[in-house]
Amino acid sequence: MITRRMFCGCVAAGFSFAATAAHAQSTECAVFTPDRQKATTPDDAIARLKAGNERFSSSKTVNYDPMAQVKQTAGGQAPFAAVVACIDSRSAPELVFDQRIGDLFCCRVAGNFVNTDIIGSLEYSTKVAGAKAIVILGHNSCGAIKSAVDNVKLGNITALLKNFQPALATLTKADGHRDSHNDPLVQKVAEANARLTAASLLKRSPIIKALVDAKQLRIAAAMHDIKTGTVSWLS
Ligand SMILES: [Zn+2]
Repeated sequence: MITRRMFCGCVAAGFSFAATAAHAQSTECAVFTPDRQKATTPDDAIARLKAGNERFSSSKTVNYDPMAQVKQTAGGQAPFAAVVACIDSRSAPELVFDQRIGDLFCCRVAGNFVNTDIIGSLEYSTKVAGAKAIVILGHNSCGAIKSAVDNVKLGNITALLKNFQPALATLTKADGHRDSHNDPLVQKVAEANARLTAASLLKRSPIIKALVDAKQLRIAAAMHDIKTGTVSWLS
């Protein structure tokens, strides 16, 4: 069986393989150029991320030469998607979605919420730089969400945690005691935060809304499971 690493190396070295396999594999390995980005639909972008996470969570990641990608992207970038993720060291978007240098714009902040600066970054990623999808990527056992559930007061974290008020407002008595040891409750808040954050982009950014209305952009909310590596899609 030919591994992707061998294949990417072989393509670079000019070896030839069966046409269909060559197309599929070379697509995975090729750098995102402006033309390639332009030819990518919003649905393609989400499908590409789903396929990447399937590779990641089944230990079939594409192996590659990062320095070759550095050279390929030195003259410019054309990422196909933007991801807002948590700072959690276990939830790095490029790894979780098995993408390469030049593939993703990534905004990372504890608890993957958005503010003016991050929305501005997303407007740049999409309207200016052409990305076709925005993914709000939450994860389970999120320390920021747990801190919000526990109403932690500590330095600037106190202000940061105010960003989770809309998600906390979805809790009801049926969710039980508001405590970070209540795993289902923490998960519910994390999922609500991802969903509400994704929805808020349409209200807070006329630029992003116009792109979505024109079907030039898709917004999705998703949850990364740090125990299994899999990403489940909420929208
Ligand atoms: Zn987190």
